[in-house]
Amino acid sequence: MPAPQEFIDYVDKSTGVFIQRLKEAVEIPSVSGDASRRPDVIRMANWINDQLKAVGVTTRLADLGMQEIEGQTLPLPPAVLGRIGNDKNKKTILVYGHFDVQPAFKSDGWDTEPFKLVIDGVTGRLIGRGASDDKGPVLGWINVLQWHHENKKELPVNIVCCFEGMEESGSEGLDELVQRESQPGGWFDGVDAVCISDNYWLNTRTPALTYGLRGLSYYRVTVSGPGRDLHSGVFGRTVFEPMTDLISIMSRLVDNRGNILIPGIQDQCSIADDKEKKIYAGLDYSIHDVEEAAGGNIALSSDKVEVLMGRMRNPSLSLHGIEGAFSGVGAKTVIPAKVSGKFSIRLVPPQTPESVDPLVVEYIEEQFKTLNTKSKLEIECLHGGKPWVTDHNHWNFEAAKRATLAIPDLTREGGSIPVTLTFAESLGVNVLLLPMGRGDDGAHSTNEKIDKTNYIEGTKLLGTYLYEVAA
Ligand SMILES: [Zn+2]
Repeated sequence: MPAPQEFIDYVDKSTGVFIQRLKEAVEIPSVSGDASRRPDVIRMANWINDQLKAVGVTTRLADLGMQEIEGQTLPLPPAVLGRIGNDKNKKTILVYGHFDVQPAFKSDGWDTEPFKLVIDGVTGRLIGRGASDDKGPVLGWINVLQWHHENKKELPVNIVCCFEGMEESGSEGLDELVQRESQPGGWFDGVDAVCISDNYWLNTRTPALTYGLRGLSYYRVTVSGPGRDLHSGVFGRTVFEPMTDLISIMSRLVDNRGNILIPGIQDQCSIADDKEKKIYAGLDYSIHDVEEAAGGNIALSSDKVEVLMGRMRNPSLSLHGIEGAFSGVGAKTVIPAKVSGKFSIRLVPPQTPESVDPLVVEYIEEQFKTLNTKSKLEIECLHGGKPWVTDHNHWNFEAAKRATLAIPDLTREGGSIPVTLTFAESLGVNVLLLPMGRGDDGAHSTNEKIDKTNYIEGTKLLGTYLYEVAA
């Protein structure tokens, strides 16, 4: 069922109040990765807690323990858990968001103070760190609850909230909390589906629903030989050089069209059928959008479906750098003694780091043997995360499709939001990613913004979604 018209009208009338709420939130510099800002992240948790209580939510600040950061032991900011409604005849939706932000300094290139919300009267942009990632969406839920609370309107579903303050720093402590609270009797017990609002539209025009994320496996390949850095005038063409061996190995991992050269990795993935290809063909996205986002005319293909599949549903291998190599200015004639190449593979279902790692290790060892070198080789898997894909025909997605006024883009993200998988696995329910912001919001970048229309219409969308879930 659609949301009541009074709710929609109320959101329009409350624009000023809702923007004021976002302004207060942006002014708390809740940077989770900066030890000196930890008191602000905790202040932010308390602020969110107060906001929730003021709109009738029963809350709990969940202690996540301590953290070692920059040589200090600091308390982790608590997660804010909320619950409103306990009607056995209604569905229970868990909403997730985060109230910590990425670091930001005016000197990074911001046009305005990052921790002051600036309203651009011409473009309608609300500019400030966290406006889109992820304070705007978190407040969107609170805005929805405010109407119900003030007007004593019953919610169409039971709502459970999980708002964390460590997302930008690896969600430390959250996995354990989610696993624990998903048990019988836990805070998340009885949840029927999850809605996460913490990603973006594909473009600046079309609302999106996201049903997949890629995973990651990150590697370091170290080649060593000499006891110390050598002079190329003395040792050039005299000894096996680690850098030459490493470059040989790195050049055999991927070709310049993005094809992964390690046997077996692409074969682990299904081949897209016509039905799936139709989804990519139908997305409101062009090669121009890709190239604009990349800042250069460099797309791998002029075929939109191929490019989108490369990002959304195929694994990719990228070379990141070489540790220990000469990278300064000038013309140093060094032969580095030990160099480490870094690369990673973005994974898609059914791949896992465990299924990919042995193929990578075996291939590199084999290739290294063919070099007939006296250098030594070491391969390490630095970190990994599983990919995720879910059924976009599930009632949770169908509700969101009805709630979106335009026909939404069904997207898969090339990156990862690890908590998605934690919720999916711990609760065993469908997870929907329902973004509020646009593709150009500049999350993690300078001049982060959310458009006023996205914040206000996004609030309506979140509210309407709850009514459609209940339908
Ligand atoms: Zn985020």
